[in-house]
Amino acid sequence: MIKKISYLGLGTMGSGMASNLLKAGYELTVWNRSAEKCKPFARKGARVADTPADAARDVDLVIYMLSNDQAVEEVVFGAKGILSGIKEGQVAMDMSTVLPAMSLREQEAYAKRGVDFLDAPVFGSKKESAEAKLWIMAAGNKAIFEKVRPVLEKLGQTVHYLAKNGNATAMKLVGNLIVALELEALSEGLVLAQKAGLDLKTVMEVVKVADFRSPLLAGNGQNILKRDFSTSFALNLMLKDASLIERFGTSLKSPIPALRVVEKNLATAVDLGFGKENASALIKALEKEAGVEVKAR
Ligand code: NAP
Repeated sequence: MIKKISYLGLGTMGSGMASNLLKAGYELTVWNRSAEKCKPFARKGARVADTPADAARDVDLVIYMLSNDQAVEEVVFGAKGILSGIKEGQVAMDMSTVLPAMSLREQEAYAKRGVDFLDAPVFGSKKESAEAKLWIMAAGNKAIFEKVRPVLEKLGQTVHYLAKNGNATAMKLVGNLIVALELEALSEGLVLAQKAGLDLKTVMEVVKVADFRSPLLAGNGQNILKRDFSTSFALNLMLKDASLIERFGTSLKSPIPALRVVEKNLATAVDLGFGKENASALIKALEKEAGVEVKAR
């Protein structure tokens, strides 16, 4: 049974997840590159580790939720990384959005130390993380998944088992391909509606009920109309994911023509200086081209 957990990466997603582990009564150790993010957890009784290697010592499960492949490279494989502290019999779980090839590299490296590994990325954003309502996918050894499942159930509203390592990260990229295209569709649609002189509040009322409705379209559409681009999922991270999907799709010779268009628009919006805003700031690239601002009157 899992009792002691280390959580590394206390960003937008990790802070909510680590809080929920504390609330669920797990004995928690935390580590974050910028140490000040550990302070609220220390106040609530978590141990603060000095390095990833230190965090990995004497716990049943090591969880990490980091920006990208580069961060995983440093935190797992680097000097004082998890691999230099973790021991046989422990379990490691990467919940970051990375390339499936990275998940496989991690699995191989852990296996050499007798450590089991799950790739377990998530859908949902800041709110779902804070409210333990994430949609979680996990892949790896089935018995290890079953051992970790009670922990995942404290973090999410659904947990799907995807079989072999790399499949959960592959599923995450499939999902984010759809997310990217939905955001592009919403942005193009709202700019067109603005150009056509439609009442944008009515446009969103229709978008919310019609047969193409989705929570993603409704939530982001409402926020765009309010010009609220506060970050749940950063534009920088959406661009990072588009580049992962591009590499993954290309490696499998799977056509991704629309994704390439979104990637270009995301890069334009980042170049315009909106990388730290929410991914819905993608619309700002199209607004610039169109010479309009989409805003509720
Ligand atoms: P975030 O708020 O930017 O947090 C990123 C975390 O990674 C921080 O703890 C950061 O440490 C750490 N980090 C970055 N580079 C590092 C490095 N080189 N070495 C050590 N630590 C490093 O990002 P997030 O929104 O929580 O996203 C985390 C992951 O979840 C990403 O893979 C993202 O794609 C995925 N994801 C995000 C969402 C979402 O809606 N936000 C949803 C699903 C999946 P510092 O605090 O020191 O910067």
